[in-house]
Amino acid sequence: MIVHRQRYSCRMSRPTRATIDAGAMAHNLARARELAGGARVWAVVKADAYGHGLENALAGFAQADGLALVEFDRAERLRALGWRRPILMLEGAFEAADVALAERLDLGLVVHSAEQCAWVEALGRDRCLDLFAKFNSGMNRLGFDEAGIRAAHASLGAARATRSITLVTHFANADLPGGADEALARFERATRGLAGARSTCNSAALIDVPRARGEASRGDSVRPGIMLYGATPFAGRAAASLGLRAAMTLESRLIAVQRLGPGDAVGYGSTFVADRAMRIGVVACGYADGYPRHAPSGTPLAVDGVRTRTVGRVAMDMLTVDLEPVPRAGIGSAVELWGDTVPIDEVAAHAGTIGYELMCALAPRVARAVR
Ligand SMILES: *Cc1c(COP(=O)(O)O)cnc(C)c1O
Repeated sequence: MIVHRQRYSCRMSRPTRATIDAGAMAHNLARARELAGGARVWAVVKADAYGHGLENALAGFAQADGLALVEFDRAERLRALGWRRPILMLEGAFEAADVALAERLDLGLVVHSAEQCAWVEALGRDRCLDLFAKFNSGMNRLGFDEAGIRAAHASLGAARATRSITLVTHFANADLPGGADEALARFERATRGLAGARSTCNSAALIDVPRARGEASRGDSVRPGIMLYGATPFAGRAAASLGLRAAMTLESRLIAVQRLGPGDAVGYGSTFVADRAMRIGVVACGYADGYPRHAPSGTPLAVDGVRTRTVGRVAMDMLTVDLEPVPRAGIGSAVELWGDTVPIDEVAAHAGTIGYELMCALAPRVARAVR
């Protein structure tokens, strides 16, 4: 049988591309480390490093103490790419075979259920697994309750495969003022007297749980994700104000220019109607690239470095832009959909979502370049 390998031309077929700034990622990691005040930093790289690409994450997060994710095939890839430091599987094993894989690749495992405890107990090798027993502090997705965490700690402590146990939790509301307080108090109460390191903070908690409460409240290791990519975990607090730099720039170009008269509409459904003469640019980027279709007219973007707004409905391969603030713009003009000039969080807010979702939704057809 002849297998035809798909060949890709070196020529970029469309001007739509995402540029990943490894320097910005390293900067944001340094910022997290500053906030962590001595706690070890896991860089969270689930979902293909929040859409930035695992290889690029390795370049940006070379200084991380460990990498955390949820996909076993991607953890295997990280080992193949040469990452030798710790890896933490945030949802733990999905089946018993994952525990054996964790042993082979030396992956730390969250343990959040009795089933996962049993898989660990069934492993025959001595002292080979770093385990992260998870307490449910109010999110009510994963983890043990107060009685359960003590029972799990005891049974994992007795399992021959256990090399270490860390106690972990994940906050439901750390992005709201004081939102982690009650969950943290529950965690501290539930784990009082249990041996092992602690890990609690996502980006929001790392930034906001006050230092005054002592380094102990941050735990022995922290797990920032979104802040490492230069987006904010908080509604209404810009990433730049937190000292973060955008790691992803989504760019394209104008491929056409249209002149509208008063009463002319643009795009599917004619949702935008000009009330005066306007120049409209057509951008080679649409929802099939990961730009949110539900971003309404008025969503910010930049043409030749000048901020302006979308007009009309986002289509599969194109969207349209008001060129009034950039009268010199024409076919070939550079467009930034999000990045340094237009924070991804602003685009997300217009589209009724969060920066996380836009990053993760970047489509495979968009070429990624690292700088
Ligand atoms: C995704 C995740 C994080 C990182 O959260 P951010 O809000 O992106 O900082 C931390 N801990 C766990 C358990 C996670 O699943």
